Amino acid sequence: MYKTIEDEVLKKTAPAELWSEFIQHEFERLHRFCLLIYLASISVWIVFDLIVSFLGGQGFTWRSMVFLTVFSIQAVILLFTRKAVHFDILNILFIVAMTIGVRLLIDGLPASFQPAWLVLGASSMLYSISVLPISRWSFYTSQGVIWLVLNPFFGTEVGLFELKGVMTIAYAVFLCGLTIYTFLKLREAKLYNYIMSKLLLDQAYNDTLTEIPNRRSFMTRAGKTLQAVPREHDHYLAMIDIDNFKKVNDVYGHDIGDEVLKRIAADIKTVMSRFEYARLGGEEFAIYLAGVRREDVEALAGELCRVVREQPTRHPVTISIGVARVADGDTLNQALIKADEALYESKHTGKDRYTFHQ
Ligand code: GH3
Ligand code: MG
Ligand code: MG
Repeated sequence: MYKTIEDEVLKKTAPAELWSEFIQHEFERLHRFCLLIYLASISVWIVFDLIVSFLGGQGFTWRSMVFLTVFSIQAVILLFTRKAVHFDILNILFIVAMTIGVRLLIDGLPASFQPAWLVLGASSMLYSISVLPISRWSFYTSQGVIWLVLNPFFGTEVGLFELKGVMTIAYAVFLCGLTIYTFLKLREAKLYNYIMSKLLLDQAYNDTLTEIPNRRSFMTRAGKTLQAVPREHDHYLAMIDIDNFKKVNDVYGHDIGDEVLKRIAADIKTVMSRFEYARLGGEEFAIYLAGVRREDVEALAGELCRVVREQPTRHPVTISIGVARVADGDTLNQALIKADEALYESKHTGKDRYTFHQ
């Protein structure tokens, strides 16, 4: 089954909104990791700066302090960044500051050391950005900035067409290819995982026929709402059952029965859009009404019965509703039993009505 769904997912290309939703999800999930990468980069830069300053005999100057301040401000901004699109821009700014900081340090090294250290600096940064949750444009722009500022041929003694230069270019091309490949493959794999999980969750928590939430979804979400404290207003639970539904199936056939189920689900969705509703199974539905007064519940239940009854259709049906107030300390199952008892009452007093549990 997994393979079948996976093949289905792999065949499709993801639309733009799904991409941005995925990037946002990735950014939220990896927010701490991004911070870690920033802090690690800053730490490495400090160590490098200290080595160059003391072993290289350049001294720790005010310029180091300026860079440290800029890096720290950017890390703090990242701490408060919540949108992936903002991180795309922030990351480019961080790369600009970091590459300039690294370039200045390397410029202080003996000339023969410089090309190798520039390539080393570029490769660490390329690898770091390849695992960050950023958009493609941000990734390629960062790559451009890295090679522009850390260009091993600019201001160094290595020539393009000598052995050292050709080897440097070959290595740079290899690095770029590798990091672009890693970036794209990693994103693709994560995107498919994301789509797969979304699809499977959707199927696990939605009713295929009526396209409204199913029992599993209801038990999870209503259960969570029930436990939420403090409760500002009362909570009510309503159970709905279609009247004489067997007859609909017998007279018009199962397909029409299915159409009726879909229609009732749509009516529930319209009238109860503010609340948690679900198809519990068969022709039974439930609604969890949190934070309402009894008069509101009466009005809504009456409205739902009316909408279903007065639906202009060739196959008219009615529904019965049982309502229970969720008392403090009630579990969801206890509330469901009470609502079911009230529903039974509705059925036995003439159907097409709502009854409150006594
Ligand atoms: P009552 O007014 O007392 O509720 O009578 P009823 O005929 O509706 O009785 P009951 O609630 O026991 O009927 C359930 C029927 O719902 C039986 C079954 O054939 C039908 N049913 C359950 N699930 C589906 C479904 O997915 N599609 C269709 N078409 N019918 C379904
Ligand atoms: Mg039933
Ligand atoms: Mg029924």
